[in-house]
Amino acid sequence: MFIGAHVRTRGGYLNAAKTALSIGAKAFQYFPMNPRSLATKAVNLIDANACAQLCREHGILSIGHAPYALNPAADEPERVVMVNLLKNGLDITNACGSVGLVVHFGKYTGKDPLQGYKNIIQCLNSATEGYTGASFILLENQAGEGSQLGLTFEEMVQVRKLCDSPEKIGFCLDTCHAFASRLWQGTDWAELESKGVQLDYLPHLKAIHLNDSVYPWGSRRDRHANIGSGHIGISNFQSLLHSPYLRDIPIVLETGTRRDGTHQEEIAFVNSLLERK
Ligand SMILES: [Zn+2]
Repeated sequence: MFIGAHVRTRGGYLNAAKTALSIGAKAFQYFPMNPRSLATKAVNLIDANACAQLCREHGILSIGHAPYALNPAADEPERVVMVNLLKNGLDITNACGSVGLVVHFGKYTGKDPLQGYKNIIQCLNSATEGYTGASFILLENQAGEGSQLGLTFEEMVQVRKLCDSPEKIGFCLDTCHAFASRLWQGTDWAELESKGVQLDYLPHLKAIHLNDSVYPWGSRRDRHANIGSGHIGISNFQSLLHSPYLRDIPIVLETGTRRDGTHQEEIAFVNSLLERK
């Protein structure tokens, strides 16, 4: 399976892929552009293509993570900025040969939550207009901290369906967020899986953010813990990891690194969970 972690892009995208390789990762996530800014970035095609080639040679899958402030639910006039950033991000993830660009579902603080959903759909429509790349926009479920949007399969599926180009949109499931938002109780993966199939969520699941949760179930707080050190529990992770829907997609840790400054140990640990049943 494609287990890995978020890695730094210091030194470029090829370097990020090399880092992944050096820690035994079969998947990795990176920031295509500065995560703390809303500025677009010129695509270094030589570096990005070298990254794609290394990943192909070694059978590694990657995903890019959009900047934190990229909010597809933003009202006009900020939407223009969000659309440009999404397009720029997709250009980079395509050049890097990545499965997709992960984007938080969106936060809306206005009075009418329906306006938030409309904004997301319009933003995604503009970003995918004329888009022919292979990288998907991957909508990530939210923990529910400061926003009510993006907590359920139902809304994510519905937003995708209502977009002009749903075939360009997939999902990234964050396990910590799912636990915090009450989407996943931990012990009920089998039920959640059948619901995800029935609603047409899991067939479009393209990536996993594999994180334990510092806070208990339903806390709506987004604090990632190392696998086995939080409230989700190892056996619940095992049920999730054995799902056929996770077999061919990147599964990426967004947890703290160990003493060596890497995720090498935690990746090995997650791989060991796949062997034990
Ligand atoms: Zn995440």
